[in-house]
Amino acid sequence: MPEKKRVREISEIGEFGLIDLLTKDIQLKNASSVKGIGDDAAVLDYKDKQVVISTDLLTEGVHFNLMYVPLKHLGYKSVVVNVSDLCAMNALPRQITVSLALSGKFSVEAVEELYAGIKRACAAYEVDLVGGDTTSSLTGLVISVTALGEAEKEELVFRNGAKPNDLLCVTGDLGGAYMGLQLLERENEVFKVNPAMKPHLKGYDYILERQLKPEARKDMRGVFKELGIKPSSMIDISDGLSSEILHLCTSSGTGCRLYEEKIPMDNQTRKMAEELHINPLVAALNGGDDYELLFTLPLNDYDRIRNHPDITVIGNMTNQSEGTNLITTGGSEMPLLAQGWNPLKKPADPK
Ligand code: ADP
Ligand code: MG
Repeated sequence: MPEKKRVREISEIGEFGLIDLLTKDIQLKNASSVKGIGDDAAVLDYKDKQVVISTDLLTEGVHFNLMYVPLKHLGYKSVVVNVSDLCAMNALPRQITVSLALSGKFSVEAVEELYAGIKRACAAYEVDLVGGDTTSSLTGLVISVTALGEAEKEELVFRNGAKPNDLLCVTGDLGGAYMGLQLLERENEVFKVNPAMKPHLKGYDYILERQLKPEARKDMRGVFKELGIKPSSMIDISDGLSSEILHLCTSSGTGCRLYEEKIPMDNQTRKMAEELHINPLVAALNGGDDYELLFTLPLNDYDRIRNHPDITVIGNMTNQSEGTNLITTGGSEMPLLAQGWNPLKKPADPK
């Protein structure tokens, strides 16, 4: 019988032992990272650049389910969601800090797995891990990541710059992460009833990856530069397309027209939606976790983007008085509602 690998409790090595184990091989790569882990605070030098900062908090049972999310993927994703926020400002990510609250069920090896994912993402996005905090929790795992980045003042893109007639554009494709989650939840339900059943995940690698290992669009900063364009407004799609569009409209004081038939979706997203009897439009509009960028551009820029494989025009901005509307494939017009993913919203009262 193979010998089971010994798993250490965190109490065996203590908080400082754990921090040391997790961070001892970390090397700083960015010139702006002057001092990293090991003192009371990190020191950064951004010279005359604008500093952009964003933070996110992820809670076990609310934002992730460790029944089917591997810790390594979770680590990777917690970095990506923050990097994505900086990309949505058209900034360049440079540093992150990671804070953890760990309950007794997590071994040293489990936290190392989480950090393997965090470090993988740091390498992929060329950001330095420069600090954090480690504490205990009574109920499960809490991860908070803060990301810092830089931009020239004139490079920054906010949510509030869209104008009527601007093109509404999106990168990549939408709804995949949501359909990946539905698939994982279905297989988890089967597993709970019959643990001997092997999960049926074949043929759905793309949507599973969209859910478990999403990527931030760090590349778009370079693409915009290359195409000689600058979005008039931008946001990343973390809560579903409809709620993000409404954010741009509210901040900019505009309305919009979104065309259902233009929304880019992968074949696996459509296939899974069909299998689960879900309208794929719902996955794109109200699902979340796609981490694509939604942005607006002056109409004049159309020729510069029309042939770009990663950019799709899905509608246009209008005067605020015209409202925020979805034009269905059938040609009817309906108001766009935000039903994005809202962890603080209470479920509807049972009738
Ligand atoms: P303090 O008592 O000042 O909060 P800590 O002992 O918590 O200091 O942290 C020591 C060093 O280790 C600091 O540089 C801190 O930023 C870093 N650190 C602590 N926890 C983590 C973590 N989970 N990931 C990365 N760095 C961490
Ligand atoms: Mg501390």
